[in-house]
Amino acid sequence: MTWPKGEGAGPGAETGSLLIRGGLVIDPSQNLEARRDVLIEGGKIRALLKPSAAKARVTPLRRNDEIDATGCWVVPGLIDMHVHAREPGGEAAETLATAAQAAAAGGFTTILAMPNTEPALDTPALLELLKAKAERDACVNVLFAAAATLGRQGQRLSDIARLAAAGAKAITDDGRAVADAALARRAMEWAADCGLVFIEHCEDAGLSRGGLAHEGPAALKKGLGMTPWAAETSIALRDIALAELTGCRLHLAHVSARQSVQALAWAKERGLTVSGEVTPHHLALCEDDVPGQDANFKINPPLRGKEDRDALATALQDGTLDAVATDHAPHADRAKAAGWDQAPPGVIGLETAAAVVLTKLVHRGKLSKKRFIESLSSFPAKLLNLKSKGSLKPGMDADAAVIAPTKLWTVPETFVSKSRNSPFAGARLKGQVRFTLVGGRVVHAL
Ligand SMILES: [Zn+2]
Repeated sequence: MTWPKGEGAGPGAETGSLLIRGGLVIDPSQNLEARRDVLIEGGKIRALLKPSAAKARVTPLRRNDEIDATGCWVVPGLIDMHVHAREPGGEAAETLATAAQAAAAGGFTTILAMPNTEPALDTPALLELLKAKAERDACVNVLFAAAATLGRQGQRLSDIARLAAAGAKAITDDGRAVADAALARRAMEWAADCGLVFIEHCEDAGLSRGGLAHEGPAALKKGLGMTPWAAETSIALRDIALAELTGCRLHLAHVSARQSVQALAWAKERGLTVSGEVTPHHLALCEDDVPGQDANFKINPPLRGKEDRDALATALQDGTLDAVATDHAPHADRAKAAGWDQAPPGVIGLETAAAVVLTKLVHRGKLSKKRFIESLSSFPAKLLNLKSKGSLKPGMDADAAVIAPTKLWTVPETFVSKSRNSPFAGARLKGQVRFTLVGGRVVHAL
């Protein structure tokens, strides 16, 4: 179950001290993959104890102050740097509270909310309001990315310096690219000055105007409107050039095409601070997996070819791609029922991300445990400059997930999320999040 904010019913809720006993701790931030008991006190990681030491040192604890993690992995809380929480304006599909609960169910302890809300998050006043709302309603840490341009209209820059001062963690017009290259350059200059990452949704709107299926054999056969890989890669290459010009830290959202991976590799060879993320659905699925015209598989960018899917997995393992992010994009049933052409693009992903990546990559030997946790926790913490997160070192925030790596389960048709537009509904997955802790408090338990 998921405990909503303010209803601290879980273990450790009262005493503030908790022991996660018997699990395999995987923490790339300290190059650790070993059996340890994790002692939590006052919302922080207090110590990682060798199992024999824990018994002597940690007595007496009440039964309620222990989590039995035997057979499980204990990892730093997952951090999703690409979530559409839909508040304000899209509350029929998701709210900050329900997005946070879905996150908790998926092992995520921190999420970065995208600014393509209604209205767009483009002012410090709205940011302050949403921060206060998240503080009150959300059971995980919610951070906010602010819009690069006013209303995400690509006409005038938003006040990036004031948004940064108000606590924005990234700058992006996600949902679309900043089309005007000169404006993108200035947004990057401001982001660099403010020490923020600029996240680009790489899509040339002219090239993608034809539709939202991958320009390949599957969509051709079905007669769907198509968008070519070059719509993504052309903007990725443009922005890599702008990152070199401005010195800005650039992050490419939801990379889907193998050519964009090559662009990213080239940028890294040049020593630029450019990174990229990939979604679980692009890692797990390709154009051939879209059943008919099922709008729950309509995503922007689209599911591409097998070669792309496989290149993304290879790039995640070798570090060309840095992060796994869900691009969690809830839509109400009615919106998705409008048919392929009319339905909005996007799928939910928070509750299935870890299990999908485990099933499709880790258990098939395509992704190491270390890279799995790096891409879902340590790297996003570093990129977003979260100094007390993404690690289980003593003194860090006690944000953690306990994962049963081989547990088989069937993804239900209904979700903790307010929406259920998932391509994985009904799928059989291997690996399940059993506990999620935020600041030492259990916010999800199975
Ligand atoms: Zn996007």
